[in-house]
Amino acid sequence: MPKTPPNTTPQRTPPAPAPAQRAALLAWYRAHRRRLPWREAPSLYKTVVSEFMLQQTQVETVLHYFARWLKKFPDFAALAAAREAEVVKLWEGLGYYRRARLLHALAREFVRLPAPPRTAEAWRELPGVGPYTAAAISSIAFGAPAAVVDGNVVRVLARLLGERRQFKDGSAAVKFFTPAADALLDATNPGDHNQAMMELGATVCTRRHPLCTVCPLVTWCVAAARGEADDLPRLAAKKTTRTELVRLWIERDGALLLHRRPASSRRLAKLCELPDAASLPAAKIEKKPLAVKRRTIANQLFIESIHRATLPANLPDPAKDASSGLLWATPARHARLTLSGPHRQWVEELRKMNPE
Ligand code: SF4
Repeated sequence: MPKTPPNTTPQRTPPAPAPAQRAALLAWYRAHRRRLPWREAPSLYKTVVSEFMLQQTQVETVLHYFARWLKKFPDFAALAAAREAEVVKLWEGLGYYRRARLLHALAREFVRLPAPPRTAEAWRELPGVGPYTAAAISSIAFGAPAAVVDGNVVRVLARLLGERRQFKDGSAAVKFFTPAADALLDATNPGDHNQAMMELGATVCTRRHPLCTVCPLVTWCVAAARGEADDLPRLAAKKTTRTELVRLWIERDGALLLHRRPASSRRLAKLCELPDAASLPAAKIEKKPLAVKRRTIANQLFIESIHRATLPANLPDPAKDASSGLLWATPARHARLTLSGPHRQWVEELRKMNPE
């Protein structure tokens, strides 16, 4: 039996007509691209902000945040001068809050530079900029010949080349297809080429039911010819973990008890959520939940049941202990605090359902 080659072998370059593929892709992009605020009247700042916001997030979700952001922080200098709490508050609901802090840190470093970096390598020196973001920013803003490779591009290339091997995860697939993306890159229009690849993956070569009949690459696409586009790329299934949490709804004099996560938290650092029952062992918890909520983050499923609870009258106010992270949020204070997106939504929903 011949052995399956390991999935780290460099990919063969696209079959012969790469110039024709580039031309078809570019013509399609110029005719069909979505008119997005960071593409119309583009600027380096708009490109950077949009690339940070678009990491792990759909275009439709980003649009509203992008408009608000540009109004409040119109350029690198305005962002650099802002307080971190203001920056994170404006990001509230967009998720992956580390991006907001890194974008803020990037602006602070950027304003100290004598000139904007122009190459992908130089952009990678700045906070929060990985290979994908560096290639996107430097190619779009400066015409640097750096190919972007993300999940969308992997999908297009896997299908175009008819690559059937299985990858252990997305990073292995990105590594594998990077030489093919470099070979296909249109060095005379790298910014538009990269945006065309991303746009094709997002709107035509979609995860399910790709629209091959309108695809500019269909003439060369191996997967479409074999009728197996829906099956590619092949990524090993991720194990989903399940976490169940009991959240407490504790009110006192019109204020709701919240818990601010420590600055050292890997996720949602300094953001407020309803307190976890484990953090208040003395609380008297009602058995029937007010609501049961589910949310998925990457491959983790969280099931959170929210229960009304009270604290024993003789218990000292737990919010007085600064190290507890607990705080009482009156409605006015609540509006100023930054909550994780789902918790803000749940609190508002429950307040409407259970007015005092
Ligand atoms: Fe994707 Fe179909 Fe285009 Fe091939 S022809 S790249 S499968 S949309």
